[in-house]
Amino acid sequence: MKYVKLAEVFDEIEATSKRLEMTDLLVKLIKDTPRDEISKVVYLLQGKLYPDYLGVELGIAEKLLIKAVAEIAGKSENLVDGDFKKSGDLGLTVEKLLQRKSQATLVKRPLTVSSVYDTFDKIAHAAGSGSVDLKIRLLRSLLNDASPLEGKFIARMAVGKLRLGVADMTVLDALAIAYGGDKSAREPLERAYNLSSDLGYVASVVAKDGLAGVEKFKITVGRPIRPMLCERLPSAREILEKLGGTGAAEYKYDGLRVQAHITSKEVHLFSRRLENITDQFPDVARLLKKTIKAKEAIVEGECIAVDIHTGDMLPFQVISQRRGRKHEIEKMAEEIPVTIFLFDVLYLNGKDQTLTPYLERRKQLLKIIEPSEHVKVAEQVEARDPDRLEQLMDEAVASGCEGLVVKNTSEQSVYQAGARGWLWIKYKRSYKAEVQDTFDLVPIGAFAGRGRRAGSYGALLMAVYNPKEEAFETLCKLGSGFKDEDLLNLPKMMQPYLIKQKHPRVNSLMQPDFWFVPSMVLEVAADEITLSPMHTCGWGLIRPRSGLALRFPRFTGNWRKDKGPEDATTSQESVEMYRKQLKQIEAEA
Ligand code: AMP
Repeated sequence: MKYVKLAEVFDEIEATSKRLEMTDLLVKLIKDTPRDEISKVVYLLQGKLYPDYLGVELGIAEKLLIKAVAEIAGKSENLVDGDFKKSGDLGLTVEKLLQRKSQATLVKRPLTVSSVYDTFDKIAHAAGSGSVDLKIRLLRSLLNDASPLEGKFIARMAVGKLRLGVADMTVLDALAIAYGGDKSAREPLERAYNLSSDLGYVASVVAKDGLAGVEKFKITVGRPIRPMLCERLPSAREILEKLGGTGAAEYKYDGLRVQAHITSKEVHLFSRRLENITDQFPDVARLLKKTIKAKEAIVEGECIAVDIHTGDMLPFQVISQRRGRKHEIEKMAEEIPVTIFLFDVLYLNGKDQTLTPYLERRKQLLKIIEPSEHVKVAEQVEARDPDRLEQLMDEAVASGCEGLVVKNTSEQSVYQAGARGWLWIKYKRSYKAEVQDTFDLVPIGAFAGRGRRAGSYGALLMAVYNPKEEAFETLCKLGSGFKDEDLLNLPKMMQPYLIKQKHPRVNSLMQPDFWFVPSMVLEVAADEITLSPMHTCGWGLIRPRSGLALRFPRFTGNWRKDKGPEDATTSQESVEMYRKQLKQIEAEA
């Protein structure tokens, strides 16, 4: 097909803002397109060469295009650049310059969709020394043969600014009408798209095998599935009502969503936005390869940074330091080790699992994983009662999670690829409380360090003082905020206080590796105070069988040598601070 035909349709699409008109134009275009060129047309329509997940960028800088245009038009780069500054659109500048040029010369060779696509493809893959010259040469060859209208769209595509505003769903509508007669054929097409994230591929399947081919569409390991998303409700009661009285509450981990495609040969990792992030997380790929017992699988989970000493989850900002890196990837993997909490399986040993109900999928997931330190299955508890859900929410938050994702457990609970629906409902707090004050806490125990902290302590178990009971009650594990040399010195510093068993005045549910006589005081900052079933501070004062804990605690660097252990923050003060925090939240709400 001639490229000018595509350029004319682009021009018409640009002139309309009505979706129906746009769809009509696309239907006609699709009908006129030879079947073997349909995928190229679909990609070019969206200013792409490939589906996004392949991450192929055209990589043409505006400067390069200006240089190529200047050469073709016989003008100086300054002049082209000046015109561009005025028009703000290289497409318009190129169109204008080619108009002048085409009065003088005849177009030599008509461009075709394939020749334009293939030339752009060569440009995208040009690499190494000489690639800049090659790109300019290829661009020149395109522009040399282009009419002014063609030049406008070639220029915009080259610099990544085609922006016709054709949404994926409009293309699917047009494919449905062109190949199925009306929009009712959109459903299987949409499903195929959701299972492959590749509009060009879906178009080529329907062009080649018709709707029957699309109905039989299969998941391919290596092609990402568009992720299922959650709805949100503000209360436990509403969530359970919406789910028909019962739901499976999973911890909502606050990290990076990862979809892992695993075969016996390789593992591909995709982000929530379907970028291929395998190179950024080689450690996760290795771990999954080792842990998942299946020939082929597509699983999903949330990756988060975990403090290897305390086992505590670290805030989202920590893992995000590992995104988008090109260098020192293995070093970062060592410095910021991550754990993946798997929560779904979408494909297993040749079988599509997306239409399997959730509880069955979860069973499959448990079957194929041997949980290990860095690969786990998301915590899940089925709940029928709003109070129980509230309690699970507190536990999730206390362990560093963002809240819960409560999932439908009925027979209809399929994996809705690419859709936001009521089968998964997130329960996040709408607030983020902030603790302004710091805490003066007493180390009453320590956990042995690992890795770089081997031979020293990985974390301290910290307590507040309860003057009424004359007891020390635990509030958090503390492993962050220490300088390396401080950590190395800790065992020596604590040596005089080391004891074989728990000190009689210590009240702890945790079992550290070492116990201390309560003696020193350290200043600790934190994000907020949460309820916790693991810590004894203020036990039962706010809620039965719950104490208080600190979320994301860190040492401020301040050793409170001026304070004795009985001068530490008290449990009563901590309870007051928790109540103040609640009031502040209510006031904000
Ligand atoms: P949001 O990004 O706030 O819309 O919440 C949805 C996101 O929560 C998902 O895209 C996942 O990345 C993440 N998530 C964390 N834990 C889970 C879980 N157990 N089940 C589903 N999604 C989860």
